[in-house]
Amino acid sequence: MRLSRYFLPVLKENPAEAQIVSHRLMLRAGMIKQASAGIYSWLPLGFKVLRRIENIVHEEQARAGHMAMLMPTIQSADLWRESGRYDAYGDEMLRITDRGGRDMLFTPTAEELITDIFRAHVSSYKDLPLTMYQIQWKFRDEIRPRFGVMRGREFLMKDGYNFDLSKEDALHAYNRHLVSYLRTYERMGLQAIPMRADSGPIGGDDTHEFLVLAETGESEVFYDSAVTDLTFGDRDIDFDDVAQCAAIMEEFTTRYARTDETHDEALFAEVPEERRRTARGIEVGQIFYFGTKYSEPLGATVQGSDGKPVPVHMGSHGIGVSRLLGAIIEASHDDKGIIWPEGVTPFHAGIVNLRQGDAEADVACQALYDSLTALGLEPLYDDRKEGAGSKFATMDLIGLPWRITVGPRGLKNGVVELTSRRSGTSEEMAPEEAVQRIAQIYAGIA
Ligand code: ATP
Ligand code: MG
Repeated sequence: MRLSRYFLPVLKENPAEAQIVSHRLMLRAGMIKQASAGIYSWLPLGFKVLRRIENIVHEEQARAGHMAMLMPTIQSADLWRESGRYDAYGDEMLRITDRGGRDMLFTPTAEELITDIFRAHVSSYKDLPLTMYQIQWKFRDEIRPRFGVMRGREFLMKDGYNFDLSKEDALHAYNRHLVSYLRTYERMGLQAIPMRADSGPIGGDDTHEFLVLAETGESEVFYDSAVTDLTFGDRDIDFDDVAQCAAIMEEFTTRYARTDETHDEALFAEVPEERRRTARGIEVGQIFYFGTKYSEPLGATVQGSDGKPVPVHMGSHGIGVSRLLGAIIEASHDDKGIIWPEGVTPFHAGIVNLRQGDAEADVACQALYDSLTALGLEPLYDDRKEGAGSKFATMDLIGLPWRITVGPRGLKNGVVELTSRRSGTSEEMAPEEAVQRIAQIYAGIA
């Protein structure tokens, strides 16, 4: 993509309405525009990152054996009356009446609808286990939408649902989700710590939230600092292996880590004092096991091996896809702008032409562009007739992890400059080598 043709409405000034750095930077980098309170349009740059995040979620869900599907955003109130949640959900639910006077709603979550699909089509234990998920817009009429995409009213969520014959099987599904989420967040360059949490209106017994530590996080968290040493890394996982998933679950959840809702001072006091931490965190996901809470009232039963009907055991699992953009920026920025982790960057590298219109520089930039593109990478080429300072400022603001700078002086010596956004260090090298280096870096990214 050539920057001269791209829609990138960057702001020079800090927008007054943004209280936290991620919101400020997303507005300044022209990623989003507020449409109304807590509701945003996704401009090309923001939309690109959103898609990258979605793709990682899809890939990791497929790896865990879960099936993608899509349910509507508008649902009938009837199912929610059946489950008893229509009244219980309260003011966060956006209620709509259609022209026939029927009560409808904009879905805040989809346990009822998926259970309705299940009960219509699944009747035998032989069809279990089953896990399906979607990435779909949700609406919750939050009392205080704020912090940009972090607490929106309309937001994009991955929501998944598992159906199992027994509690034991459903707990394996729970562990499987925990394991797959660990890898999902790491691919986005994030450390998201599973913490014991409270189930809220979804209900249920077992639940963990995934938290990214950040000063601006809305949750207060308490943990043993040893949990921050754990990394998932490049493990070979067999998602059908009950023992392996349970062992990873153990590894990541045995040490003390809780949100304020479930915090227990007495238990926390057992953590060695030098490892006790109180901090703030951003919730980027949550997994639940809630047994037969929805399957019983909605009559989602299967015929067991003895021929008798049994209600299925269920769980649900959510990832805050749009919130993740904010969380990643909170965790990865400096005073010049965003620093995208390679896994989610909107463009793989920036090409800055210091002397647009100089025949040699133009040819060299185009050659770099073509080589990177031929390798399946997406460069953003700043081909505008602007000064170097302004071009660097834009690249730093939008946070591409790698920048190749091309100027007549370097070209005389046969070199361009490769700069890391994260470390700020630059190295001169032949253009072909810069291309190879970038290709190598991305080849190492799952
Ligand atoms: P919160 O406690 O932050 O209100 P929640 O626990 O109600 O969130 P879940 O039902 O667990 O949310 O939804 C799954 C994920 O969706 C959350 O972990 C979070 O990352 C994301 N999410 C929830 N509410 C919002 C929102 N208003 N804006 C953006 N993302 C959200
Ligand atoms: Mg939650």
